[in-house]
Amino acid sequence: MSNQQTDAKAAGAAKVDELDAVVIGAGFSGLYMLHRLRDELSMSVRVYETGDGVGGTWYWNRYPGARCDSESYIYCFSFSDELLQEWNWSGKYPEQPEILSYLNHVADRFDLRRDIQFSTRVTSALFREADNRWEIETDQGDRVSAQFLITAIGCISASNVPDIKGLDSFEGEWYHTGAWPHEPVDFNNKRVGIIGTGSSGVQSIPVIAERAGHLTVFQRTPQFTIPARHETVDQKFLEEVKANYDEIWHKARYSVGGIPADPVEVSALTVTAEERQAVYERGWAEGGFRFFFGTFGDIQVDRRANDTAAEFIRSKIRETVKDPEVAEKLLPTDHPFGSKRALIDTNYFETYNRDNVTLVDIRHNPIVEITSKGIRTEDGEYELDIIVFATGFDAMTGTFFKIDIRGRDGEALKDKWAEGPKTYLGLAAAGFPNMFMITGPGSPSVLSNMPVSIEQHVEWICDFIEHLREHDAEVAEAEREAEAAWVDHVNEAAEMTLFPLANSWYLGANIPGKPRVFMPYPGGVGNYREKCDEVAADGYEGFTLGAGRRGKRRTTRVS
Ligand code: NAP
Repeated sequence: MSNQQTDAKAAGAAKVDELDAVVIGAGFSGLYMLHRLRDELSMSVRVYETGDGVGGTWYWNRYPGARCDSESYIYCFSFSDELLQEWNWSGKYPEQPEILSYLNHVADRFDLRRDIQFSTRVTSALFREADNRWEIETDQGDRVSAQFLITAIGCISASNVPDIKGLDSFEGEWYHTGAWPHEPVDFNNKRVGIIGTGSSGVQSIPVIAERAGHLTVFQRTPQFTIPARHETVDQKFLEEVKANYDEIWHKARYSVGGIPADPVEVSALTVTAEERQAVYERGWAEGGFRFFFGTFGDIQVDRRANDTAAEFIRSKIRETVKDPEVAEKLLPTDHPFGSKRALIDTNYFETYNRDNVTLVDIRHNPIVEITSKGIRTEDGEYELDIIVFATGFDAMTGTFFKIDIRGRDGEALKDKWAEGPKTYLGLAAAGFPNMFMITGPGSPSVLSNMPVSIEQHVEWICDFIEHLREHDAEVAEAEREAEAAWVDHVNEAAEMTLFPLANSWYLGANIPGKPRVFMPYPGGVGNYREKCDEVAADGYEGFTLGAGRRGKRRTTRVS
């Protein structure tokens, strides 16, 4: 293995650096990938990162109220005991600045920055069949070649600003939650409009309402959301956690959603109405994902069971929101609870009791255009100083498509995925040898507590690379049959859930023209991990290993 650390720009554009691996992105995934490849496999690695700092999602999403829905003690890396023991979280649900500090600490602690090139966007990655290497170019004029290309680009990083007529004419300021400025936005006495009531909207609406002169919320789909019951971390709890981390992580790794929750087997339909109410009340009081995972075992798969949870939440909305007309507009009725991304909030429904907040139902009163002064809906114009787009992302595939990725025969990934992403295990794609995706489409990723899924992918990829080295195999490529079978399996698993019943970004439904395909793997992180382990134990079944050159491919498996 070469051990070249030359800076691409210092070396000049004409020189092509030869690396063992290029990693795209310096969020949770890219940081850990770099650490493992460089410090454990002694590979030469360069990470390219568009931002001028580490953090990925947590670098970009700085909107007011941004925090994680996973509890802090499990929203972190587990690979280093020392790191686990030395870091002290302050918030039960960590706020964006705290997570960003944590990731900066990780970068410093493991001396990662020296192999990350910041403020650099990868523009293309082409697989050269002649020598089985990836040729990578950036917007800063870098041109490097690498044996392995690893995408650590996140699942929700390509912001979606809807194409609404007139945005260019708006004379105020506008922002997207996913590309928030680094300087504070001054909402004081301003008339603010926000479009979108997903996770970002539900988190930012209560905070912006407290700061703004007036806030108008433009809501297309009412949401189910559960109170987070956020608080500062109880230090005694944290001490207990630290003493029991091995057990906690084991449970999380073999769970459904990557959190250490005990599975609940009881059906919502087999208990009495009083018992059901008591369980939901307890879940509501505990708050957060405990309501989702800790009440009944069938609310995610059985519509009738789900209806009972949905009706309970609707009753809470009616109870919380004082104006019955506003409450009615906030009631989610067109999709099952949890079929869009489950949300948790702090004072979301309470915010609609404020005098300075107006709710506009744009499903029945659609936005017609953005004017120089604000937003015009069918029933009139709302004058605004600031518009906030909390309108989400071109998720799971959008960030891939911003890079011109081409595999064998010059095939573009964008063409291969024109009818929806096709991957083997969400880790690799046929025709794209030696390219690995961390939390790619077809893996549990966004349906799980991300660090648990990220660590599993990074470790699996590293084990695979070691296996290739031990067997003198230069190239690994997913087989088309294995890929097709995995895509079928993901679809079948999705059909067994209630997810397909909502128009969600999981299905690409938020982006006009995007194929309606369920993208993450809904079979649970524990089952998924076992499948990946089986594939490895079986000599990386479903991959062809070998020299990889056309006509010389070894079709027998190396094991
Ligand atoms: P999102 O869930 O996709 O929500 C976007 C919102 O904008 C929805 O209410 C959507 O309405 C609305 N919208 C989109 N296009 C629109 C248009 N053209 N006109 C009017 N309304 C429009 O996006 P997000 O809230 O940014 O969250 C994305 C994901 O990021 C989350 O699901 C979650 O996985 C992650 N996230 C996590 C956290 C956390 O951990 N706390 C925080 C933020 C984000 P419809 O529902 O009708 O499409």
